[in-house]
Amino acid sequence: MKIIHTIQELRELLHIWRAERNTIGFVPTMGFLHDGHGALMKAARQDNDRVVLSVFVNPTQFGEHEDLEAYPRDLKGDAKLASSCGVDVIFAPTPEEMYQNPKAFVDIVDLSNTLCGVTRPIHFKGVCTVVTKLFNIVQPTRAYFGEKDAQQLAIIRKMVKDLNVPITIVGVPIVREADGLARSSRNTYLSAEERQAATILYKSIQVGKEQIKIGMPASELISSMKSVIQGEPLARIDYVSVVDAETMQIVEFIDRPVLVAMAVYIGKTRLIDNFSYTIGR
Ligand code: AMP
Repeated sequence: MKIIHTIQELRELLHIWRAERNTIGFVPTMGFLHDGHGALMKAARQDNDRVVLSVFVNPTQFGEHEDLEAYPRDLKGDAKLASSCGVDVIFAPTPEEMYQNPKAFVDIVDLSNTLCGVTRPIHFKGVCTVVTKLFNIVQPTRAYFGEKDAQQLAIIRKMVKDLNVPITIVGVPIVREADGLARSSRNTYLSAEERQAATILYKSIQVGKEQIKIGMPASELISSMKSVIQGEPLARIDYVSVVDAETMQIVEFIDRPVLVAMAVYIGKTRLIDNFSYTIGR
């Protein structure tokens, strides 16, 4: 497995692979890889001749007071896991390699004005821009995204559709710890006590999954999920919302495929989680 830091060198390698008519699977990440990323890499390995992983902590998707500097990094550890998942090349550019005083951006409207877009107003513009740049650099056959970041996945799907990007987007189910906590690079911020408290997100999801089947309106579902979370003193709710699975707009009556999503601070760490629901499925 190779590790490449420049766009030029990666393009030269990809040029050869494309000339050999290889299909290319692409997994974009911010690194500090765990089994959640592992599921994406394994899916890409299964579906494609070649697998490209990017490791890039993208500055343009972090707000001013967010954790850009503190975000955990470990390229050596990432290389170990990536290699065991069958990745052919890691693309790990510097911020300077990716951005030189940029004036062009890719943005998405409406889908980014709910859920995480409310507290992180510039986040999805940064994501859409870097993903577009990475798509243009790698030009993969398929690209893999986790359902853990469900709003991001919906936004990428819509962006690819609207801009006629010739790449198949593949969503991969959430990978969880044994106690239900969704795997996340940010889980490393949690103290032992906070790690225990963080299981409250999954507990409220389990309650939500049971209650949504009864057919209650979204507002009642949200109240009962919120009251589970409020039982944990270290937890502070950012949002618990029910949105249309495609448009990401708030719904009250659960009469279509929906996403039930939450962001909760455990101490200073902001964690997200979600589940999808379609009546009768
Ligand atoms: P990140 O490095 O956090 O930007 O994540 C890179 C990709 O891995 C995104 O598509 C995430 O949705 C996905 N991912 C992160 N954690 C998980 C998880 N626990 N289960 C499935 N996918 C995940």
